[in-house]
Amino acid sequence: MSESLRKRLLDIYGRLYSRYGPQYWWPGDGAFEVIIGAILTQAASWDNVDKALANLKAKWLLEPVALRAVDQDELANVIRTSIYFNAKAQKVKAFVQHLGEHYNDDLRALLGKDTHNLRQELLSIYGIGNETADDIVLYAAHKPIFVIDAYTRRILGRLSINPTRDTYDSYQAIFMENLSHDVSLFNEYHALLDRHGSETCRKVKPTCAECCLLDLCPTGARNVMSV
Ligand code: SF4
Repeated sequence: MSESLRKRLLDIYGRLYSRYGPQYWWPGDGAFEVIIGAILTQAASWDNVDKALANLKAKWLLEPVALRAVDQDELANVIRTSIYFNAKAQKVKAFVQHLGEHYNDDLRALLGKDTHNLRQELLSIYGIGNETADDIVLYAAHKPIFVIDAYTRRILGRLSINPTRDTYDSYQAIFMENLSHDVSLFNEYHALLDRHGSETCRKVKPTCAECCLLDLCPTGARNVMSV
């Protein structure tokens, strides 16, 4: 652990929290809905995922038995708004198949595993990668793991907080090795980074002059100077 990095990460968190307030993540009615939302949100905006979840609910499909029974093409059509809907229908099917085969649909038994084993098992299911697995571990199982996504990578890069290697695990280690493993902190921190990345530290034309992290940020200082 680096004490200076720990302080820096907590300073960033405090500023983001003061700026945006609590984010109340993850939106979803129960762990199963959180998991399906985590699968559907890959490369999709939350608004479009929300529409797909509403469609699933309207057709009484947001539960494991119904999702196993429904035809895959029909499922793809129901979740159409979430883009890559054919691939995502296959991924949703793979998850509910796993849940039925190994846990008789007892989601609590799956989510009750320890963090490492749960994460490894999720990664073994077709279509679940690092970010989706960690979304599920943190927001459905409420276990302490830090979720890394494109917003997090971008913000850290602009703040010159660089991992040892350009890999998911290395970015994750920045948080896991320097912050206490606190579910509430990890929940809120990831949500705040996403809010900041979508509203202020945008990919194109970040609004650095209004950013609460400006005095910590070499990229922001350059951007403001060049205006
Ligand atoms: S100052 Fe600009 S580049 Fe730096 S974190 Fe803020 S918005 Fe992003």
